Amino acid sequence: EVQLSVEEDGGHFACSSRGAFERDKKGFPGDLAWLKFVFGSSAVAALDLVDQHSVTRIVSPSGRAVYQVLGSSGKLYTCYASCHFCTCPAFAFSVLRKNNSLMCKHILAMYLSQATGACQELSVSDQQLASILLAEEEEEGLGTMC
Ligand SMILES: [Zn+2]
Repeated sequence: EVQLSVEEDGGHFACSSRGAFERDKKGFPGDLAWLKFVFGSSAVAALDLVDQHSVTRIVSPSGRAVYQVLGSSGKLYTCYASCHFCTCPAFAFSVLRKNNSLMCKHILAMYLSQATGACQELSVSDQQLASILLAEEEEEGLGTMC
């Protein structure tokens, strides 16, 4: 008799996807196939970002948190989990302007790293967090499509 338990059967996304990362970094074995089905090629890029530990969660004492994702071009993008926003040009173009995409690969990587516990944490002061957000605004418009 086969006994199925929820915990061992993909019920915990964190456990099952972490195993998948270790098995095959670029592929979509088993339970990760839906990612590619829903998100297309950006799922591949997002998995790469998570795999390379490019996602950092920055928290301040007041409880505010933003995510910084190191894009493949080497540029740092800021993602806001609370309002579903990313500072990269791809988000501005395909999500905000053309409305043909749900999210960019950075936001997807942010959610994936949350789910798998793969993101690094960085604690900063409220002032430091403010200057991170301000610096990001000044750089706007300089990036290339990611
Ligand atoms: Zn982005």
